[in-house]
Amino acid sequence: MLTLTLKLFRRACRKHPGFNPALDGRGAVKGGCVACNLLCDVYEKHQELTRMLDAADIQTARQREQAARRELAAGPDPRQGTLFIEVTA
Ligand SMILES: [Zn+2]
Repeated sequence: MLTLTLKLFRRACRKHPGFNPALDGRGAVKGGCVACNLLCDVYEKHQELTRMLDAADIQTARQREQAARRELAAGPDPRQGTLFIEVTA
C-alpha cells in the first residue's frame, strides 16, 4: 500500500514572475536563470509523476480485471447454493 499526499505548489521566479514552464517551456528561460530552470525541473518531474501514477492506475485496474476473470472462469463457489430449482419431468 502506497499513500501519497501531494501538496499545492505555487512559485514564481522573482526576476521573471511571468514565466510559466507549462506554457513557455524551457526554451523561454532567460539568461540561464537558475530559478526558472528549477521551475522547469519541478514541472517536468510533476509530469513524469503524473504519467507514472496513471500507469499504476491502469496496471492495478488490469490486475483487478484479470482476478475477476479468473474468478469467473473458476465457476461458482461450490459452497454457494442455487436460487433455482431444477425441474425434471
Ligand atoms: Zn527566472
